[in-house]
Amino acid sequence: MLDLKNTSLLRTQSYVDGKWIDADSGETFDVTNPATGEVVASIANLGAAETRRAIEAANRAWPAWRDATVKERAKILRRWFDLIADNVDDLAKILTAEQGKPLAESKTEILYGANYIEWFSEEAKRVYGDVIAPPSKDKRIVVIKQSVGVTCSITPWNFPSAMIARKMAPALAAGCPFVSKPASETPLSALALAVLAEEAEIPAGVFNVVAGRSAREIGAEMTANPLVRKFTFTGSTAVGKQLQAQCAETIKKTSMELGGNAPFIVFDDADIDAAVKGAVICKYRNAGQTCVCANRIFVQEGIYDEFAEKFTAAVNALKMGSGFDADTEVGPLITGKAVKGVQELVDDALQKGANATVSGGPSELGECFYAPTVLTNVDDKMRLFKEEIFGPVAPLFKFSTEEEAIKLANDTEFGLASYFYSRDIGRIWRVSEGLEYGMVGINEGIISNEMAPFGGIKESGQGREGSKYGLDDYLEIKYLCMGGI
Ligand code: ADP
Repeated sequence: MLDLKNTSLLRTQSYVDGKWIDADSGETFDVTNPATGEVVASIANLGAAETRRAIEAANRAWPAWRDATVKERAKILRRWFDLIADNVDDLAKILTAEQGKPLAESKTEILYGANYIEWFSEEAKRVYGDVIAPPSKDKRIVVIKQSVGVTCSITPWNFPSAMIARKMAPALAAGCPFVSKPASETPLSALALAVLAEEAEIPAGVFNVVAGRSAREIGAEMTANPLVRKFTFTGSTAVGKQLQAQCAETIKKTSMELGGNAPFIVFDDADIDAAVKGAVICKYRNAGQTCVCANRIFVQEGIYDEFAEKFTAAVNALKMGSGFDADTEVGPLITGKAVKGVQELVDDALQKGANATVSGGPSELGECFYAPTVLTNVDDKMRLFKEEIFGPVAPLFKFSTEEEAIKLANDTEFGLASYFYSRDIGRIWRVSEGLEYGMVGINEGIISNEMAPFGGIKESGQGREGSKYGLDDYLEIKYLCMGGI
């Protein structure tokens, strides 16, 4: 079993209305370690009825939470941030056990997520209204901002801690109580956050975690319940569309962080070594399982061979293994099904003429392991040009001109993250403006942090997480018209 200093962090019950509860049915489901297939814990399997009670508890908690002064809310959030930072080692072990990523990446994720709590505890003090010039002498116009209300979230397994933190931090800071449904593959990190929420004295009902195997059932309650004013989701575009349609019945506000198909463009004038380093981290972090991972690497023809050679050497040096081994850089994928999905995309590319300069593929280490792979001679007819790979496979496309690179990069329904490497200032402006993406990394492979607005355009979603803009998603604007003056 896991060797934890703070053993109270490993919970199998859910956290609703300030209490730890079992499922009404008494049922449980297993969480397994993807590196070994071992059962890490058996978790209470909650459903619609418990979710409804969590939403009702959140709604009861709303008035006192939203009417607390922002300094009071900030103080509690700050306490939560400090507790997470103090417990980072144990939280990282729990995360690696359920998700598989290397322990160092788990620590980075936990601190990255906690930074959103710190940031929004500070940023909530800077919510301003407006006084607007009136149309007649006897009137005054004032605009105030108020919390949206009960917020529900569904989050994926690739960042079991940070995806929740990124959503609940602005929600709670703005005064919205929160009900979280973590992915059934990785509920332990969310439950551990709830232990620390309780310790930070977040009032009962303000932060709830409902763990259950059926996301469909819990999601149906969250999206239909009229007490829920806001629904925030991170996951695939297909599921996001479905959930957004469900929210339309009660016109809930939504934030959607959906799929990506990130281009990573390397121009002839780039610092090639820096581009190789950036591409490796951008592609292979979390074994390629992030929505901002480079999905298509476009390299200009003048440097294509040199880049491919250096990139291949760097990928060959990556060490795959259990996330608990100190030298592991690439962990397992989340499930055996994920391995099959990645292999189908690679097979399709190989059949259509791609060459593997690193032939990784399924590994003897275990059912969930897929070794880093690099493909050259790829083109836009292959499935991986259009589809999110979500695994450690890098296809290297060749292009000739700047216009062609922008056109290829934008030839997708997605618009989340994009990246390019160039040292030419004119090109940097042109390409930055030409890319139809919510985020652009310029000579950078890792761009996400709490001070910047993370989010996508087109079918990659709506809303922004982090930065001064992140609070807007959890605030309503109210216009006061004062007459008779
Ligand atoms: P991923 O491939 O990253 O798991 P999904 O969109 O399939 O992306 O899943 C993201 C989250 O949404 C997961 O926690 C999953 O359990 C949940 N989910 C999947 N289908 C539904 C659904 N029909 N209703 C509600 N939640 C769902």
